[in-house]
Amino acid sequence: MNFDNILNKAKDVFETAYKKADGAISVQKQKFDIAGLENKLSKDYEALGKLCFEEMQKGAFADNQNFLSVAEEIKIKTAQIEELQAEVLKAKNKKRCAKCGAAIEKGSAFCNVCGESVNEE
Ligand SMILES: [Zn+2]
Repeated sequence: MNFDNILNKAKDVFETAYKKADGAISVQKQKFDIAGLENKLSKDYEALGKLCFEEMQKGAFADNQNFLSVAEEIKIKTAQIEELQAEVLKAKNKKRCAKCGAAIEKGSAFCNVCGESVNEE
């Protein structure tokens, strides 16, 4: 192998590696673009679902059992969220007894479960 051949071989190796890296970058970009589009697609489906749900409250799709069962799940989860949010609000006005761990009203001086004196912080 003469010097020119060695140089050409090195150039080939470099170009092949460069093309591979370039390909990897473009595949990564394509994967990124796919993830972005999938995310937007999910939001479109969600928006469509909300529109359908609103229409169902006005009586639309009443003969579609698939729609009805998903709408029922939405109602159940919405009620669960509201219930938990109410509990969180309620919990904000309570404190824990250091002795027995019972939830006590913030204003009380004694635990109503074990009678422990509760110091206000
Ligand atoms: Zn207690």
